[in-house]
Amino acid sequence: MKHRLTLRRKMTLWFTLSVVAITLLFFGASVFITRARLTELLKDDLSLALEQLSSQVEHKNGQLYFEDETPVKSGIMYYITEENGSELASHGEDITAFDAYPVQAGTFTHAQYAGETWLLLDSSSIPVGNECIRIRVAASCRQIQQTLRIFQLIFLLGVPIMTALAALIGSLLAKQSLKPVQQIICCADEITAGDLSRRIPEASGKDELGALANTLNHMLASLEESFRRERRFTSDASHELRTPVAVITVYAESLLTDTSLSQEEYSKVETILNECKRMQRMVSQMLTLTRGQEGRYPVLMEKVCLNDVLDGVHAVLEPVAEEQSITLHFTAESSIDLCADQSLLTQLVLNLTENAIKYGKVGGDAWVNAAQTDDAVLLTVRDNGIGISAENLPHIFERFFRADTARDRSGTGLGLSIVQWITSLHGGTIQAESHLHQGTIFTVTLPKHESSSVNAK
Ligand code: ADP
Repeated sequence: MKHRLTLRRKMTLWFTLSVVAITLLFFGASVFITRARLTELLKDDLSLALEQLSSQVEHKNGQLYFEDETPVKSGIMYYITEENGSELASHGEDITAFDAYPVQAGTFTHAQYAGETWLLLDSSSIPVGNECIRIRVAASCRQIQQTLRIFQLIFLLGVPIMTALAALIGSLLAKQSLKPVQQIICCADEITAGDLSRRIPEASGKDELGALANTLNHMLASLEESFRRERRFTSDASHELRTPVAVITVYAESLLTDTSLSQEEYSKVETILNECKRMQRMVSQMLTLTRGQEGRYPVLMEKVCLNDVLDGVHAVLEPVAEEQSITLHFTAESSIDLCADQSLLTQLVLNLTENAIKYGKVGGDAWVNAAQTDDAVLLTVRDNGIGISAENLPHIFERFFRADTARDRSGTGLGLSIVQWITSLHGGTIQAESHLHQGTIFTVTLPKHESSSVNAK
C-alpha cells in the first residue's frame, strides 16, 4: 500500500532536514576554522622557538656555545647542530626520531612519532661568528587533535538531539500553522452534509489561509443565496400552479358528467383529469419539500402514538390494497410513543405503504411492522412485489426519480424524497433493500426523543 505523506508530515520532514543540514554545515565550518586556528598558533610557537634558540647560540674563542637562558615553550623539542652535523644542543626525549624526515628549511612538515602527529620546522643555515648552525624544532599536534575529538563528541551527541528536537518543534509548528486548514476541512465536511449556512471561522487571520477562508466564505454565501433563490422560485411556482390546476380539475370533473360526450371524448377528458390529479399531487409534494428545505414548513414536535398512526394509515389504504388484491399486514408492539410531528409521521408511513401496494404484485402482500428499543423506534415496510434493480436502488431517494415510468403513470418521483426529508428532520435514518421480482424492504429508524439534529432543512 502506498503510504500517504500528509502536509503536516511533509512540513515536519522539511523542517527537520533543514535544521540537520544547517547543524552539519555549522559543525563542519567550526571544525575547519578551529583546526586552522590551532595549527596557526602551533606554527607561531615553533617560529618563535626557532628565533629564541638562534639568539642563544654564541661564538666565543673560536667555539660555539648554547646558553639556555630563555627556555622555549614547554612541549617543544629542539635539536641544534653545527655545520658539520655534530650536535650543539638538544631538548626532548627523542628528537633524533625525526631524522628520517629530510630537512626542508623554512617549511612546516607533518611527521608521525609515538602514534601522534608532530609539526616540524627547520631553519636554514644560520651564521654565528664565522660558523653556521642549523636548528630543528618539533611540537606535538596532540592538543589540536584532543580539541577536535571534543568537537566530534559534541557532534555525535548533538546531531541526534538536534534532529529529535527539530522533528518535535517542526511537528508542533506544522500543527499550529495547519490549524486553519483543519477548520476549513471540518467546515467543508459539514457543508458536504448539506448545511450551506456554515462559515469558516474568522480566526484564520490575515495570512494566505485567512484569504482562502474569506474567498470560500464569499463563495458559500453566493451559493447559499442562489440555492435559496432556486428553492424560493420552486416554492412560489408550486404555489402559483395550485389554482390553475385546481380549476382545470374542476372543469374536467364537470365535463365527465356531460352525457353528450362520445366514448372517445370521455376517455380523453378522463386522461386530462388523471394528469391533473397527478400534477396536483406533484405540486403539493414540491411545496412540502421546498418549504421544508427553506425551514418554512410548520413542524410541531409532540408526543405521538405510532400505533394510532399505523391504524389510521391501515384504514385509509385497506380499500386501495383490496383493489389490487393485496393483503395488508400491520403488526406493532403495544404503546410505541415517540416525539414527532404527527402529520409528517403519517405522511411517511403512508408514502411507504402506498409504494408497497403500488409496486406490489396482484394477490401479493405488504407488511408494515413497528418495534421499539429503549431510545429508538424501528419501522419496516416490506412487500413481495416487483422489486428494484441494483442499478436503480441508489437513486430512489432522488427527486423525480422513477424506475419504471411506463408501468406506473400516477407516480411523481417525489414520495421517497419526502420520506427521506421527514426521516432526517426527526434525526432518523432510512435504508432500502430490494431484489428484482422478489420484493423491497424499507427500514426507518427514528429516535424516540426529540433529536438535537431536528431541523427544518
Ligand atoms: P413515485 O411517486 O414514483 O412512487 P417515489 O419517490 O415514491 O415516487 O419512488 C421513487 C421510485 O422508487 C418509484 O418510481 C419506483 O420505481 C421505486 N420504488 C419505490 N418504492 C418501491 C417499492 N416498494 N417497490 C419497488 N419500487 C419502488
